[in-house]
Amino acid sequence: MFGLMQDRPLMISSIITHAARQHAKSEVVSKNIDGSIARSTYDAIERRARRLAKALIALGISAEDRVATIALNSCRHLELYYAISGTGAICHTINPRLAPDDVAYVVSHATDRIIFVDPVFAPLVAAVAPRIAATVRAIVIIGSAAEMPALALPPGMDLLCYEDLIAAADDNYVWPEFDERSAASLCYTSGTTGRPKGVLYSHRSTLLHALAVNVGDVIGIRAVDRILPVVPMFHVNAWGIPYSAPMAGASIIMPGRHLDGASIAALLNTEKVTISCGVPTVWLGLLQHLRASGERIDTVRRLTVGGSAVPRSMTEAFETEYGVELGQGWGMTEMSPVGTYCQPNAANADLTGDALLRLKEKQGRALWGVEMRIIDAEGAALPWDGLAFGLLQVRGPWVCSAYFGDAPDSALDAEGWFSTGDIATIDPDGFMEITDRAKDVIKSGGEWISSVQLENIAVGHPDVAEAAIIAARHPKWDERPLLILTAKPGHEIDRASVMDIFDGKIATWWKPDDVLVLPELPHTATGKVHKMILRDTYKDYLVK
Ligand code: AMP
Repeated sequence: MFGLMQDRPLMISSIITHAARQHAKSEVVSKNIDGSIARSTYDAIERRARRLAKALIALGISAEDRVATIALNSCRHLELYYAISGTGAICHTINPRLAPDDVAYVVSHATDRIIFVDPVFAPLVAAVAPRIAATVRAIVIIGSAAEMPALALPPGMDLLCYEDLIAAADDNYVWPEFDERSAASLCYTSGTTGRPKGVLYSHRSTLLHALAVNVGDVIGIRAVDRILPVVPMFHVNAWGIPYSAPMAGASIIMPGRHLDGASIAALLNTEKVTISCGVPTVWLGLLQHLRASGERIDTVRRLTVGGSAVPRSMTEAFETEYGVELGQGWGMTEMSPVGTYCQPNAANADLTGDALLRLKEKQGRALWGVEMRIIDAEGAALPWDGLAFGLLQVRGPWVCSAYFGDAPDSALDAEGWFSTGDIATIDPDGFMEITDRAKDVIKSGGEWISSVQLENIAVGHPDVAEAAIIAARHPKWDERPLLILTAKPGHEIDRASVMDIFDGKIATWWKPDDVLVLPELPHTATGKVHKMILRDTYKDYLVK
């Protein structure tokens, strides 16, 4: 017997119609490229999204067609999110930091019909245009007629203006209802090993994920919050904030391209931001700026951080010097992205000081909806004792089952688990801690050394800005850790003092064999240290 509750499909359009109706006074603020501020509301965004939906239909877009965006965080990008998915088409967000070759690859692989592009990224589109002419019928510049660049496009590919499209369309449009399992958006992994792979989110997965991150122990967004997503809308839907914030009714502050510490601090203060989300590099930049300038960020109550491990020194600095709670989350493109979040539970509610900081180094406990386990090389489940580490697997309604274009369920094992490629421990209270990416572990004399733990310690050194540990070849131990560093601006690195910082914190045989200081570290398209490049370049450093 089925329950007798209404079987209404979970539609992305329902979020924006709800926000427009219930939270008409909340703001959506964008910092433009020229530094000026544009202000909009959910009501205006919903109306403009309906006009845009009609414009898309007039351009021949129908359900399941892929429509791409190459854009920064802005009100207009939010309109595109809702217009494209709302009509039943699929919003393919493209990371502008991908190599042009990969951009051409993902557009062709997704068979995108139209690409909406910010004026700043028009040269990137022009560069790849001849290679995507088989599928792309139009390039729409996200701006007004005055912002139109002169682009030479191949025959059959139109150059259109976003504001002209909206002006020409009316808003007499009703958001359609269809199967909630329908595809809504598409995001490719950053492809550091091999070609990027497409993750295809559904309306259902998007709404369930948005609800799950809105609980108090995760991002915990309330209607009165003003949230600044530094995380980009061009990658994993900015951690779902474009859905979870309007669902809660909060105002969103879109930072555009101004992501340095000084610009973020200024925006946090002038816009009275209460929550902000970003990768550790962003908060490192903010922290350096705050310390140098003496500024404070007193309206902020929570910074959410994820994407790479969060060093204890960063949590300590924000929480003790600035009174801002720093919350670490873990996830991946294949998980929409959030899987775990680190907040105390009943088992450790009384922790304070050092013990609490130690807990907060962990990636945290699974959100409701996500199951996790760790397995050994033979596939046997490992105990949750905080010591055994193995491959982390997950399953749940916002975890990917197959990559775009692949056979159904081909990303899963026989029991429906998705292998994350992360190596982790899980403690008896359910807190997961990443020790490495499977491809980054260091095997010294057959034993594993956690690069993440060593990196966290290294960035606690007062002169160190960024740190990466790689496995370098070693004649006796096969692999040994090599520490590669950059210095904070104006600081000199003293190698011996960096080495000393490990003493007493780890087993002595974990200590890096050497320290290499570089002017900067290479980063991936999603802003993580590109360890593969470092490994390729320095794998023989210790044998030389
Ligand atoms: P992406 O799909 O680009 O978001 O990358 C996902 C990967 O980033 C994960 O599999 C982890 O290796 C890493 N990652 C994400 N969040 C964290 C975190 N809080 N700590 C350590 N690694 C993380």
